[in-house]
Amino acid sequence: MSKNKPRRPAVTPTTPCPCGSGEPYPDCCGGCHQGRTAAATAERLMRSRYSAFVVADTGYLLRTWHPTTRPGGLDLEPAQRWTGLEILGTTGGSAFHTEGTVEFRAHYTLHGQADSQYEHSRFVRENGLWVYLDALPPT
Ligand SMILES: [Zn+2]
Repeated sequence: MSKNKPRRPAVTPTTPCPCGSGEPYPDCCGGCHQGRTAAATAERLMRSRYSAFVVADTGYLLRTWHPTTRPGGLDLEPAQRWTGLEILGTTGGSAFHTEGTVEFRAHYTLHGQADSQYEHSRFVRENGLWVYLDALPPT
């Protein structure tokens, strides 16, 4: 163990998945990130996108973004350390749906300050695969 603070938490084959599922990372979001499995539900995709922020997999984040709303590129804040994901609610988003929403709160620390990001995200299925569309305006 280095005494230096790592820029990001190390995720190894034996680490529990950052999304909080309790599964090892390779059996959970790692499978999605590496293209071995596809997220079957909108919530699963949301979890894998959260984990992609943790492991800084911008390629995965862009691949799972709807082409009409996808940014040209993505710069992650290197000092931002994601510390946990809370799923607050979902609508639709199952294998039988083509649309779904996931309401969540993602926790992080930035420059020593704990904070969180709340979002009610919309997901759609494109060619059978769930992708992130956009965020619903706050109500
Ligand atoms: Zn996971």
